[in-house]
Amino acid sequence: MIIDGREIASQMIQKIKEEVSLLRGRRPTLAFILVGGNPASTAYIQMKKKSCERVGIRSKDQVFPDGIGERELLEVIQKLNRDDEVDGILVQLPLPPSISTQKILETVDPAKDVDGFHPINMGRLLLGEENGFIPCTPLGIQILLQKSGNDPGGKHVVILGRSNIVGKPLAALLMQKKIGANATVTLAHSQTKHLIDICQSGDILIAAVGIPAFVTKQMVKKGAVVIDVGINRVNGNIVGDVAFDEVAPLAKGITPVPGGVGPMTIALLLSNTLKSYKLREK
Ligand code: NDP
Repeated sequence: MIIDGREIASQMIQKIKEEVSLLRGRRPTLAFILVGGNPASTAYIQMKKKSCERVGIRSKDQVFPDGIGERELLEVIQKLNRDDEVDGILVQLPLPPSISTQKILETVDPAKDVDGFHPINMGRLLLGEENGFIPCTPLGIQILLQKSGNDPGGKHVVILGRSNIVGKPLAALLMQKKIGANATVTLAHSQTKHLIDICQSGDILIAAVGIPAFVTKQMVKKGAVVIDVGINRVNGNIVGDVAFDEVAPLAKGITPVPGGVGPMTIALLLSNTLKSYKLREK
């Protein structure tokens, strides 16, 4: 079974659109910060802005050259923090090496941190608190699993990759009782020994390594659900981290790339922005 992220995301986006259309007064607003001309980052921002437009969320974008100083960028964020019209602030990563990503992300007001990367929101996620923002890709994956009939509750989920934006928050989320999915989670990375055996023991295998065709059929248990987070450019095409053609026949369910996790990430960004708007209007 192909797990159609596009379809599930589109249902979520339709609901957000309906909710936004009923709002009176000011519209929810999301501020985008893009530094430099990285083509992938520029394309992601365009895609996110288009989705905002589709549901009636106002976007405010600020584009800066690669040479912008850290202090100048911090001031931009502080100004957005003070701007009552702005509900969410998204800093497109990666930032140039001359700028400390951690410093920038920690300056975003946690109440406007719709990406969920601020240490306060990460801490709330780890503690299982409901009042924070959960990073969009991990939350999108949890919803994708639940809505496609593959609830991770009680299952063994193996996650490949321990980045701060995917692997770590995803592990923290899926293991939670209230805000999560009650899964039993194993987080693997480049130093993991017996990787094939560990992957094979997963009822659900989630790949977020950034290496094309990393997950082969030898790593997948028959009847497992496979979620491919990877977005890799190969000869002008976008491919995931899973060798789709050889893994699909074994799997109970599998996400395609594109059309799996990617659309869910965008839907959750819109959902987090609306959540922030509602909390701030209160
Ligand atoms: P990172 O490069 O930050 O992390 C990659 C992880 O994979 C690291 O933890 C690394 O381990 C691990 N890894 C690398 N090689 C191996 C190996 N041989 N065996 C086991 N683990 C390995 O990537 P991101 O988490 O940022 O992104 C992962 C992929 O997901 C990328 O393709 C990215 O484009 C995509 N992505 C997709 C999104 C979407 O919306 N669909 C959103 C965000 C990312 P170690 O820590 O030891 O180095």
